[in-house]
Amino acid sequence: MAELIDGKALAKEVRAEVKSRADDFRATHNRAPGLHVVLVGDDPASQVYVRNKERAAAKAGIEGRVHRLPAETSEADLLALIFELNGDDHIDGILVQLPLPDHLHDQTIVDAIDPAKDVDGLHPFNAGLLVVGRKGLRPCTPSGCMRMLEHVGCDPKGKRALVLGRSTLVGKPIALMLLEKHATVTIAHSRTEDLAERVRESDIVVAAVGRANLVKGDWVRDGAVVIDVGINRLDDGTLTGDVDFEGAKDRAAHITPVPGGVGPMTIAMLLSNTVDAAEARIM
Ligand code: NAD
Repeated sequence: MAELIDGKALAKEVRAEVKSRADDFRATHNRAPGLHVVLVGDDPASQVYVRNKERAAAKAGIEGRVHRLPAETSEADLLALIFELNGDDHIDGILVQLPLPDHLHDQTIVDAIDPAKDVDGLHPFNAGLLVVGRKGLRPCTPSGCMRMLEHVGCDPKGKRALVLGRSTLVGKPIALMLLEKHATVTIAHSRTEDLAERVRESDIVVAAVGRANLVKGDWVRDGAVVIDVGINRLDDGTLTGDVDFEGAKDRAAHITPVPGGVGPMTIAMLLSNTVDAAEARIM
């Protein structure tokens, strides 16, 4: 029977660390670390995410501000705001809530953020630092997954790790982070054959696809560590991950639930990145 990896409890621990570092920063520099979030349009899910980030930042001693812009905001106006935030010395982190409305290109806007303030870790400069194994701001969800592995004492060194999904946001960066920790990493994606076999041979499985119960419980190797990043809404409104939790929990050594697993870690790591950015910028 697997031990649950409680993302809520671990996120609370990370947020407490962040609060203590933010308080120290404020005491030393006479200002709190600053996080500015840009929300364009009125997508209901994005509004909820942004509100959660705003609340979490305030509780962690981070000076948060949300810039709410109308859906029809032009690229030029949005870029002008980003450049203004880049140039403001009291702002340490800038996050543009994605996806943007269709007429705006996510990558063009992300590319305009100062890499030193890119607390989502999505700027190509930061992605490059991760590839070459150097310090930089790293994407929040993969960082949260790594923190979860560390928490349960799972050292990826020498282990066979499987990442399902190859997105820039989750799959690719988590694969690089596992590689950095000396795992033997396989990346599976929509064209992968023999997915069941790949899961069966893996000591660590990170699923980041967005398909309910894609990974069957009996594929999971006895004693594996399973991190389920997927968030899928079922017809009855409940949330579930990419892994058949009920089947997998009898075989895995450790497994994350959905909800209450990776999700809460993402915001905690965003706050952690903001304090990292603040400390790095004043050095
Ligand atoms: P994405 O749609 O950008 O990428 C999905 C990936 O899955 C693609 O690389 C695709 O090749 C791969 N894929 C599709 N079908 C597959 C299959 N049958 N077998 C193996 N791989 C397959 O999605 P994303 O942004 O990487 O997010 C993935 C999931 O993680 C989504 O459910 C998303 O909601 C969730 N997510 C959760 C958090 C969190 O904080 N918990 C954060 C980000 C994303």
